[in-house]
Amino acid sequence: MNSLCQRLNLTSLPSQLSTLLEAARVQQLSYEAFLQTVLAAELTGRQQRAHERRLRAARLPFAARLDSFDFRFQPSVSERVIRELAGLTFLQSATNVVFLGPPGVGKTHLACGLAAQALEAGHSALFVTLRELSQQLEAPAPRGGVAAVRRYSQPTLLIIDEIGYTRLSQVQAHALFDLISARYERRASILTSNLTFAEWGQLLGDDVLASALLDRVLHHAEVVTINGRSYRMRQRLPADQPAALA
Ligand code: ADP
Ligand code: MG
Repeated sequence: MNSLCQRLNLTSLPSQLSTLLEAARVQQLSYEAFLQTVLAAELTGRQQRAHERRLRAARLPFAARLDSFDFRFQPSVSERVIRELAGLTFLQSATNVVFLGPPGVGKTHLACGLAAQALEAGHSALFVTLRELSQQLEAPAPRGGVAAVRRYSQPTLLIIDEIGYTRLSQVQAHALFDLISARYERRASILTSNLTFAEWGQLLGDDVLASALLDRVLHHAEVVTINGRSYRMRQRLPADQPAALA
């Protein structure tokens, strides 16, 4: 039986077959019901492995879930908006999501939570910090440059995290613009930043390029501005401490 499974590429069945056979005997399943459970077991196993592969490929920095986000702690984040994003229509309409706010307010958590949702629904996702991305965009061929732009254009959802901690060279800024242009109106991206949009010009070292880039990012976008306290510092600061110090 195992060798038949192997030849048919039924990779999930062999480990479950004896349990399924035993259950079928005990429950006296019909041939039809048994065949159904066997095929369903193989399908579930394949879907699980495909999900695990997508999850590994996405390189999420931590396994944050939207369920574990405490909306009461961060009232500037609308639970309704996040729930709606979790419905994933933003992927179909190639609408970008931008999380703005100081460190520790949950930008990466929300981005990873939405990515987890997308992966579970069968979409591809890829997480990268702007620092890593800009290094790869500037790297020599065959991995860097145009090839890197192409690689990051492909996933259904791209997350560019921590926009604001890295100043880009001219080459990096132009490559980032090419990437944003390649995804524009085709695929959704989630961007997170501790800077205001007005400060992106300095980051790219070019105000004109920054405004053209922002034009594309923001044409179809949901911007979530978080101006609360750092969750990391929640035990250390009194509730009325201003966010700027968090
Ligand atoms: P940011 O990216 O804005 O700097 P993170 O998303 O990395 O912040 O959040 C810092 C840590 O605090 C993470 O471990 C995250 O899971 C947690 N965290 C942040 N905000 C919340 C929240 N409202 N509810 C639950 N956990 C949170
Ligand atoms: Mg972060």
